[in-house]
Amino acid sequence: MEKKYVYLFNEGNADMRELLGGKGANLAEMSKLGMPVPNGFTITTEACNKYYDDGEAISEDIQKQIYEYLDILEKETGKKFGDPENPLLVSVRSGARASMPGMMDTILNLGISDEVAASMAEKSGNPRFVYDSYRRFIQMFSDVVKGLSKKRFEEIIDELKAEKGIKNDLDLDADDMKVLVKKFKEFYKQELGEDFPADPKAQMMEAIEAVFRSWNNERAIFYRQQNDIPSDWGTAVNVQMMVFGNMGNDCGTGVAFTRNPATGENTLYGEFLMNAQGEDVVAGVRTPNKISQLKEIAPQAFEQFVNICDTLEHHYKNMQDMEFTIENGRLYMLQTRNGKRTAQAALKVACDMVDEGLINTDEALLMVEPQQLDSLLHPMFDADSLKAAEVITTALPASPGAACGQVVFSAEEAIAEAENGKKVVLVRLETSPEDIQGMAAAEGILTVRGGMTSHAAVVARGMGECCVSGAGDITIDEEKGEFYVNGQTFKRGDWISLDGSTGKVYGQAVKTVPAEISGDFERFMKWADDRRRLQIRTNADTPRDAAQAVAFGAEGIGLVRTEHMFFDGDKIKAIREMIVSKTPEQMDAALAKLEPLQQADFEGIYEAMEGRPVTVRYLDPPLHEFLPHKPEEVADLAAEMGMEAEELQAVVDSLHEVNPMMGHRGSRLAVSNPGIAKMQTEAVIRAALNINKKHPDWNLEPEIMLPLIGDLKELKYVKKIVDETAQKILAEEGSDMKYHVGTMIEVPRAALKAGELAEAAEFFSFGTNDLTQLTFGFSRDDAGNFLPEYYDAKIYDQDPFARLDQSGVGELIKTAAERGRATRPDIHLGVCGEHGGDPNSIEFVDGLGLDYVSCSPYRVPIARLAAAQAAIKHSK
Ligand code: PEP
Ligand code: MG
Repeated sequence: MEKKYVYLFNEGNADMRELLGGKGANLAEMSKLGMPVPNGFTITTEACNKYYDDGEAISEDIQKQIYEYLDILEKETGKKFGDPENPLLVSVRSGARASMPGMMDTILNLGISDEVAASMAEKSGNPRFVYDSYRRFIQMFSDVVKGLSKKRFEEIIDELKAEKGIKNDLDLDADDMKVLVKKFKEFYKQELGEDFPADPKAQMMEAIEAVFRSWNNERAIFYRQQNDIPSDWGTAVNVQMMVFGNMGNDCGTGVAFTRNPATGENTLYGEFLMNAQGEDVVAGVRTPNKISQLKEIAPQAFEQFVNICDTLEHHYKNMQDMEFTIENGRLYMLQTRNGKRTAQAALKVACDMVDEGLINTDEALLMVEPQQLDSLLHPMFDADSLKAAEVITTALPASPGAACGQVVFSAEEAIAEAENGKKVVLVRLETSPEDIQGMAAAEGILTVRGGMTSHAAVVARGMGECCVSGAGDITIDEEKGEFYVNGQTFKRGDWISLDGSTGKVYGQAVKTVPAEISGDFERFMKWADDRRRLQIRTNADTPRDAAQAVAFGAEGIGLVRTEHMFFDGDKIKAIREMIVSKTPEQMDAALAKLEPLQQADFEGIYEAMEGRPVTVRYLDPPLHEFLPHKPEEVADLAAEMGMEAEELQAVVDSLHEVNPMMGHRGSRLAVSNPGIAKMQTEAVIRAALNINKKHPDWNLEPEIMLPLIGDLKELKYVKKIVDETAQKILAEEGSDMKYHVGTMIEVPRAALKAGELAEAAEFFSFGTNDLTQLTFGFSRDDAGNFLPEYYDAKIYDQDPFARLDQSGVGELIKTAAERGRATRPDIHLGVCGEHGGDPNSIEFVDGLGLDYVSCSPYRVPIARLAAAQAAIKHSK
């Protein structure tokens, strides 16, 4: 039997999202639930993938199926495609498995032509609506299918408005719309050298192909990378009978959420416009009305809509985001999906739904994206500074957070300034999907037009970025690089601050304070802690970071990078003395200076961790990193150290390596300079002894971790230095304090020889940064330059330094864990590379049964939730 690539809405259901995409599956589900959904069919994601496999062509058999389903749609609706007497008009819309709002393309009103329009105008008695629909179709088709500039079409409209002295689009009459149709077609012909196509069937196939193509447009690719969506999912395409929100004053269109997506409050939340098409609401071109006002304008449709919202939320057990259209007073549902929401709203909705008995705590935990918590962990405005700041305008609180930055007016500027390390706020008339990279680069977004559900608001919420929208008091002069509000002028580069929770805009930089975990957040994280199996540690090198991590729920430190402690004040001097020392005596003298400083560092960290375990990793980077390289800096340092510049330059030169990442670093330093490992051991052991004296109930047992080990003999060699030093001190102090020596697994050889290494190591910590670097042979520092080409070529979807490469590097981790455990069943296993804070990687290592992950302080809450989600998924 030939493969089925097309499904009628009434052939599918919500479980078929992989095949039908989210939109298609949910349209099918709503049809199944008996809701008023205009008829249509879905072309599957498999068809999209086949389109790409076939060299960007829709195969004959898929085309055949599409036409068959078009026939069925005609029968179902009693209308005919291209027939002036009773025309069927359709929308062609994308719909991937995961929602990617605004990232791909849509074409509305397809099926309209000169004849169809003329007859529709006569029959409906509403020529304005017909020609408005027609000009919109030409605009969308030209942009999406043919790639013509959207801007030029807007200019043509503006020119006509100026000619007629009209401000508002709604004041354009039927004849004006006809003029626009004519002008648009002329522009089309002028640009493409051919007439605007008249055959609707051919148009439909081209539109479907354009939607497939839009899966790989720049913004969709960027969105996928940001949201971990694999490129091989493909998009489905939905072809659906048009219903019209722009047919008159008893027509309208809107979007609504079953709860407030910014705060989570349990009230219907949405916006609509009468006499408009869907794009008008989301594009933020007109500022829409609140959904509650619909009650007066279209009471019946409103009541039906409220009931549907309630049914859908109970059915999906999640907050829904819906699109609807009212055609001559009749309600139609065009979409439902789980609504994107701010982190704050996500937590409130999860907690409320548990309290309402709608979901259990496991379901609540799975409802919140771990990555989203990030937005709650960053600073908020300091209350006093906020009171003192001047509010220049108040608009819609579209996405919460505190943003403070210098004004820029375009996405390109935002990207460029952010690359220069500047904090910027992007101020726009309205945003469009092309702005997504600039929005990501900015601290916050301020738009003049648009509502709470406009593109800017939806995308900002998705990114956890602060957004204030619909600031109608503002006028922008982009050319001059200025905006004006209530008599004040702000120039490009001026500081402003946005409060995305109140919608207030301040005319200066406002001070911020650190976030805290309380209320719904605290309650939710407690559920996560009860559910997870993995322990969560942090990577921290200062008491301040350590304390922050504890406040965020860290249960210990999995990695202290001791070299980070060497850079300040007297320590950098002492380490430089050590590096340039010529005799063992000079070396010992330098190390003797370092030891108490290092010991004090460790004591500070132990104090901050209040008895929680701390893994100290011994010196790792090549020594040249501690010396300057520029001749003038070498000369300055030489003068400071009382040596000749040439002499110091000779030391710098002697440390030069062609490939330092694979050079004299890690435990290799301890093999050549045992004094360093000895000094660090003394510092750790003495620090722990001191702290144990101060806090006897903490019973610290130092964990000493040796980096970049590749062989058992090497491990034993360095461990012997550690043991001899530690035991000598313990004997002198008459202490029976235990300490533990383990190794990082960072070179592939260590992973393979883990069975042997476990003879001498009490724990393994997977240093997945180096392990990824050495497994791929990609330099950690340089791969960013060429990986984008790998994404473009679809060789890799993701940065393997951010998301663990499960099939390659993961295989090494699995092997090492198995071999290590075979030798030492109680070996403690963890991950301390960047992947320790990445939800996807956490799920993978939970599956391997590792004991802990360790990540930077700000990722600790994310890791706690990701570990809970992993445990829930693995218990199913
Ligand atoms: C690692 O390699 O994963 C690691 C944690 O060590 P570093 O990043 O300090 O090299
Ligand atoms: Mg490393």
